[in-house]
Amino acid sequence: MNKNDEIILNIDGTSSDGYGVGRYDGIAVFVPLTTEGDVARVKILKVKKSYAYGKMIELLTPSQSRKEPDCDVFSQCGGCVYRHINYEKECEIKSAKVENNIRRIGGYDLKPQQIIKADRICRYRNKAQFPVSLNGNTGFYATHSHRIIESDDCLLQPEIFTRLCAAITEWIKKYNISVYNESTGKGLIRHVYLRIAEKTQQIMVVIIINGDSLDYSKELTGLLLNVAGNNLKSLQININKKDTNVILGDICKTIYGQDYITDILCDVEIRISPLSFYQVNRDMAEKLYEKAAEYAEFEDKTVLDLYCGAGTIGLSLAKKAKKIIGVEIIPDAVEDAKINAENNGIKNAEFICMDAAAAAKELAIRKLKPDVVIVDPPRKGCTSDLLNTIANDFAPERLVYVSCDSATLARDCAILRDLGYILKEYTPVDMFPATSHIETVAKFIRQ
Ligand code: SAH
Repeated sequence: MNKNDEIILNIDGTSSDGYGVGRYDGIAVFVPLTTEGDVARVKILKVKKSYAYGKMIELLTPSQSRKEPDCDVFSQCGGCVYRHINYEKECEIKSAKVENNIRRIGGYDLKPQQIIKADRICRYRNKAQFPVSLNGNTGFYATHSHRIIESDDCLLQPEIFTRLCAAITEWIKKYNISVYNESTGKGLIRHVYLRIAEKTQQIMVVIIINGDSLDYSKELTGLLLNVAGNNLKSLQININKKDTNVILGDICKTIYGQDYITDILCDVEIRISPLSFYQVNRDMAEKLYEKAAEYAEFEDKTVLDLYCGAGTIGLSLAKKAKKIIGVEIIPDAVEDAKINAENNGIKNAEFICMDAAAAAKELAIRKLKPDVVIVDPPRKGCTSDLLNTIANDFAPERLVYVSCDSATLARDCAILRDLGYILKEYTPVDMFPATSHIETVAKFIRQ
């Protein structure tokens, strides 16, 4: 097979990124925008030793799972990968992806529980970070790139975000505010970061800037108040002067209202600052936490909540647990977690600002013996150091693992088995419809 060849390909699988996959000449060919059951004419774009990438030129036989994409920029934007298939099929693909990782990488021949489906497959997000194009318009990055696809409405975001973006664009153009240029490092506005607390409808707007202050901020406030009225609770700038892909800098300054918004999650009032993690799909976060609670069997137990963000998982369990200890590395999130405990009258929760593995070591020295450990790490998963401390020093009955990347979850499954923790059950939870991402909750039992 060579670059620029045109082939007829039967698509019979899906890659972890959500691309259709077919086999040709004994190698896997990945083709974006195709799906299982398609037959397509494909132009080969790149050939490697054991796989190739192609582009669909013509769809010869469409899969039964296909539907008409409902977004104009679907084929270019790096956000959604499943707007061309029905939701049933999407869930089937996601569940199979998790099972495949658990089998192949984790070494477990164990089927997942029924995937927990989303109630809303559009406009479910409560957070967006829009890059701003040099024309002053908001948009999204193209797949694997920093090219900005201008888009004035995204089907994953609430409609109010579209109107807030329009107001910010109007302000940029009216007052000739400069926009950050990645190639020169000059210009002010880098990203627009929006959050909505869905239960209370409170809105936070953060303008990420390559500078220390914002001119015409009164005018911006006025325009945003026109859109959001009283729901606008917080307008902040975030300072990021580094030549980096990381969106947020370390410093936020409030220019209107409070420096946080408040949501309600699992009956707990949660205050969220810009730098604190908060699950982007609130309704599905409740379902995820319910499943984690079921697996934890936490009543009257001491629970260690590692990677706790603003304390949400632990605080949702606190009323029925004996004690909660949360660990998180971001200081603002720990501050939020402490205030959240106080505001909800929760007295049996303690929060520690530290790296999870280092904190675990220290807690082991303090002779802490949690009955249950919950971990909810970022995509890279847990360090083997941390898993060692959990298994050898804490030796809890149960470990509940909340994972946003089933490949690293599966890797950690294999490590945990060697440490005497057996994967009993796992459930995929669809927090991110239309994207390739899938959350998983897993329950491990000490042997
Ligand atoms: N359980 C929380 C947060 C999960 S996201 C919730 O459901 O909202 C993962 C969290 O891990 C983030 O808040 C991130 O800041 C934190 N984190 C990342 N690396 C860490 C580390 N090495 N030690 C402790 N926390 C870390």
